[in-house]
Amino acid sequence: MNIPLLDLKAQLAPLRDEIVARITEVVDSSRYIQGPEVENLEKAIAGYCGVDFGIGVSSGTDALLVSLMALDVGPGDFVVTTPYTFFATMGSIVRLGARPLFVDIDPVTYNLDPGCLAETLDNENIRRQVKVILPVHLYGQCADMNRIMKLAAAYDIPVVEDAAQGIGAACPIEKNGRTVWRKAGSMGSCGCFSFFPSKNLGGMGDGGMVVSSDEKLTEKIKILRNHGADPKYFHGIIGGNFRLDAIQAAILRVKLTHLAEWHKGRRRNADRYNKLFRQAGLTKNGLIQTPVAVYKPETETSAEGQDYHIYNQYIIRVRERDNLREFLLNNSIGVEIYYPLGLHQQECVKKFEYCGHGFPEAEKAARQTLALPIYPELTADMQQYVVDTISMFYK
Ligand SMILES: *Cc1c(COP(=O)(O)O)cnc(C)c1O
Repeated sequence: MNIPLLDLKAQLAPLRDEIVARITEVVDSSRYIQGPEVENLEKAIAGYCGVDFGIGVSSGTDALLVSLMALDVGPGDFVVTTPYTFFATMGSIVRLGARPLFVDIDPVTYNLDPGCLAETLDNENIRRQVKVILPVHLYGQCADMNRIMKLAAAYDIPVVEDAAQGIGAACPIEKNGRTVWRKAGSMGSCGCFSFFPSKNLGGMGDGGMVVSSDEKLTEKIKILRNHGADPKYFHGIIGGNFRLDAIQAAILRVKLTHLAEWHKGRRRNADRYNKLFRQAGLTKNGLIQTPVAVYKPETETSAEGQDYHIYNQYIIRVRERDNLREFLLNNSIGVEIYYPLGLHQQECVKKFEYCGHGFPEAEKAARQTLALPIYPELTADMQQYVVDTISMFYK
């Protein structure tokens, strides 16, 4: 059996005709950049996330960059984030001349540890230099936003959510003594999404979006997206070309209508893996740790309608990771290491004084974890084969 890490062909098959028809409409409209397609997508994504505004941009990376620009992040500032994420999170900070201030991750969720965050912000000398807190909702599960937002509010520091892997993921936060479920990207000053093809909502090229309910911030991001021009050809500030193509927006609007069912399929597959690994005895003797859905409501009924984890990746923590990886690849099972290095260990920042203490949990995760195929079209037989092959490796 040949099982790819992600099978975009399987996703495309039932949608192909509709998508091609929508692309053709855009081709014939001769409106290729921004325009009504992009505006409609912006409204749809904002509505989906429960915020007032969406701002279509050229990529998830640019969503982060333009958000930090809009919040005046610049030379010397600290932006607090996790060292265990995709490079773009840090790249957007460093490109503005600011410094990433890393805090270690929680070993269960792989997300920024709010205890470490509290400790870091406790130092007033450091805190005064912190311009933004940038949590990442890694693998499709929200960071502990309840505690992160409380700290941010206490110190009056804006939060930008890197929700590139977490579109639609929800988590419970306390609001005026009540617990409410909020979607990724809707809790901070703004949230950033990526439509890179491998994300749960992926385009056919690059694309991204910033969402926000802050009208002033939204206006500024819209101006920055277009070289800071306001009005056209008059530049009060310096921005860039961060615009989104109409063709991508048209494709994404078709796909958005299927997102809920894809999330559900990924969760079903995650539950199935968890069960198969248990049955195979691999979890009991500690050879494998399966992912934990932290915000999973107690009962299936209360879980109804809550995308507590969207499983952009299904990550296992394993013994002999590198050998297992090779064994699975040799058996035609697509697996990947996200991520082999902490960001603080990257060559390009070695000469750069990145700041922060040690990051043992991030380094451990980088050594021990492996992503398995989890896409919605994966079948029970395929998952059985994956688990059987892993069992064979440990025999
Ligand atoms: C994918 C991703 C990005 C960047 O998105 P692009 O659209 O590829 O630029 C940023 N942060 C995280 C966590 C991501 O996974």
